[in-house]
Amino acid sequence: MRDEFERVFGAAPTGVWAAPGRVNLIGEHTDYNDGFVLPIALPHAVKVAVAPRTDGRLRLYSAQGDGRLTDVAVADLAPGAVAGWASYPAGVVWALGEAGHRVGGADLYFDSDVPTGAGLSSSAALECAVAVANRDLHGLPLSNAELAKLAQRAENEFVGVPCGVMDQMASACCTGGAALFLDTRDLSRRQVPFRLAEQGLELLVIDTRVKHDIGDGSYAAVRNGCERAAEVLGLPALRDLPAAELEPALTRLPAELVPLVRHVVTENDRVLRAVALLDQGDFAALGPILTAGHASLRDDFRVSCAESDLAVAEAVTAGALGARQTGGGFGGSVIALVPQELTEQVGKAVTAAFRVAGYSDPALFTATAAEGARRLG
Ligand code: ADP
Ligand code: MG
Repeated sequence: MRDEFERVFGAAPTGVWAAPGRVNLIGEHTDYNDGFVLPIALPHAVKVAVAPRTDGRLRLYSAQGDGRLTDVAVADLAPGAVAGWASYPAGVVWALGEAGHRVGGADLYFDSDVPTGAGLSSSAALECAVAVANRDLHGLPLSNAELAKLAQRAENEFVGVPCGVMDQMASACCTGGAALFLDTRDLSRRQVPFRLAEQGLELLVIDTRVKHDIGDGSYAAVRNGCERAAEVLGLPALRDLPAAELEPALTRLPAELVPLVRHVVTENDRVLRAVALLDQGDFAALGPILTAGHASLRDDFRVSCAESDLAVAEAVTAGALGARQTGGGFGGSVIALVPQELTEQVGKAVTAAFRVAGYSDPALFTATAAEGARRLG
């Protein structure tokens, strides 16, 4: 990283930071409904080498970018001013400024092993790396959760993606060996021990390689539907509809909103049940909750796709205890909870089924719960 930085910018960086991608175990499309989520950070991370500048210019280069250096004056940062991938890091510098932290210019070199657009939250990793680096470099009085909120604001207002806060909170606030049980309404949270190896289990990540694009309107459409439903029900957010009151509430909704509400309410309940099981050490019982969550995403929320449906079905048939699509949807990655001795078999079964269906081979890896955003050196 330091060498690459020097090659691009001609001097040494001040420091290097990393922020991870994530997989969400359960709790999908609940965050923007003020609900519960349960992500783990991945060992995969965006790394950034940074040196402050005194001339107010922000220069950005990514090993995974377009091969060009973005060079913009911090004073000129405004929504719409920066296009493409560089809008994510530039947006964070803008959001820091909006919050009263004028951090000035800097040179930033990025390198990452988080697959992009795979539902593993490379965008939040990119944002959180910039946020934590600026906080540390300038000694800003900001907690990791406050950095996550600023990163979300950057993605919402500067990049223009109406995402919730889960991805940024996962990248900034996860700890190693634990899942982050997060209430997205007030950001209260608890680290839930999640060491699968001790249970003889593994989490297999199956990247379907179907590129989702949550900026294309489908995500905004379901999000709007949820907001309309909360309005019809007279609730601040769908989070405020308890599972026990779901059935009578559904009769008060227009038909097209019924499945959306059913997903969000049952999904919040699945997060609570999953946390209770993990607290009891009953990791295997998490499996059926994952699979039920996928059925809800597929049949009610309708944000899965043929490839992720096939990956889930095949993984379960081949011995996974449960599986579901993770991330915003319309493709991306599937997670499968698998007894260690069956991981290879499950991966092979999914790949074989993809070939029969004429899909490209999925990318496979196993995930452990890693550290959130941090300084590397
Ligand atoms: P996800 O967050 O699930 O990976 P998104 O569509 O939210 O998918 O974000 C992907 C976008 O984030 C990419 O298209 C790119 O603009 C940006 N991005 C992520 N990682 C990098 C990187 N290492 N270098 C440059 N851009 C990146
Ligand atoms: Mg993203």
